[in-house]
Amino acid sequence: MSKVVRGDGAYLHTADGRRVIDAISSWWVVTHGHCHPAIVRAIQEQAGKLNQIIFAGYTHDPAEDVAARILRLAPRGLDYVFFSDSGSASVEVAIKMALGYWHHNRKDRTRIVVMQHSYHGDTIGAMSVGARGVFNAAYGPLLFDVASIPFPAKGRERETLNALASICQSERPAAFIVEPLILGAGGMLMYPPWVLREMKRVCEVYDVLFIADEIMTGWGRTGSMFACEQANVTPDVVCYSKGITGGALPLAVTLCRAEIFEAHYSTDRTRTFFHSSSYTANPLACAAAKANLELWEDPETRRRLISVVAMQEKALEPFRTDARFENVRRTGTVTALDLKVNDAGYLAGVGPKLQSFFKDRNLLLRPLGNTIYVMPPYCVTAADIDEIYAGIREAADACGGLCGSKA
Ligand SMILES: *Cc1c(COP(=O)(O)O)cnc(C)c1O
Repeated sequence: MSKVVRGDGAYLHTADGRRVIDAISSWWVVTHGHCHPAIVRAIQEQAGKLNQIIFAGYTHDPAEDVAARILRLAPRGLDYVFFSDSGSASVEVAIKMALGYWHHNRKDRTRIVVMQHSYHGDTIGAMSVGARGVFNAAYGPLLFDVASIPFPAKGRERETLNALASICQSERPAAFIVEPLILGAGGMLMYPPWVLREMKRVCEVYDVLFIADEIMTGWGRTGSMFACEQANVTPDVVCYSKGITGGALPLAVTLCRAEIFEAHYSTDRTRTFFHSSSYTANPLACAAAKANLELWEDPETRRRLISVVAMQEKALEPFRTDARFENVRRTGTVTALDLKVNDAGYLAGVGPKLQSFFKDRNLLLRPLGNTIYVMPPYCVTAADIDEIYAGIREAADACGGLCGSKA
């Protein structure tokens, strides 16, 4: 374990005096850098005014402001914002909205369609719609059954689309949930916007609700504000979290179309959308989110994003011809590459070795098995990027013997 005493920009400072480059944005949440002054200031100011208030029958400016700004940024056609306090909770909310919608419309539709290798969180419902594996084997008996379509691997996209159409037709599911363009924890697997667009079209044909989990892909990661923009898709329900506060405080939102809201909005209390957590729309978290949203209105943020995309592509280039790696890939600001091993996958023996190598090298990188990925905060410099990829090259040198695949 390393004790971290301070974060600033792309760096973490440890108790024993080391400076570590945060190449994975502290699990994908830190977008503008650690302790961004505007976000810190917003939290400090809010802390002296109102820390917490029940968000039922009462409201406050930071929440209203954040909701209005998010609706302006989100794909057109999303009309309502529901607050919660983690990505997993926002997914539970999305699933409940979908089932509630059909229930209140007196349709018996409860089945959920998911994509192979997906990750949607660690609560029971979120695990149920995610891939089954070592993460959740112990809880298998509690997870509900879902229908699954294959990941749209390059050249096999039609299989995915056909599988989705076939399930939608035969099983009349309530909803399809998917991570747009990048499947994160499942191994940074990437697919192109046209597949996202086509999956949405299939759902429209069969009147199946389309839930986009943009918890990781949101806030610029894929090169656009939200991944769905690149496919010109408006989901029926979408989840945003992680970078929503710039990575300073936990917060999440689930957005939905008016029809879904209206299915629940009634004086008939049996139709109420029953979901609340104690810290729903916490004012401090909302103040941080508001500061984050203001940063996104600054053209400088967009310029930085474009430059991170370019720096990432340039740094990745030499690895495309490095025989020790395969599946060298990038979507927006996120790069990933698989170190060739005999036991590929999340439990690949090389995983822990890489992790400790990077730790000694003062780089925060946490490979997913033999998949190394880089997802930096947008304040990262060209020198930081050089340092990160030099570390990856050295790791391949050091671990090449271990995995028996040194070219
Ligand atoms: C991180 C993540 C979640 C879960 O969010 P938590 O805040 O950790 O509960 C869900 N879906 C995706 C795609 C994620 O990356």
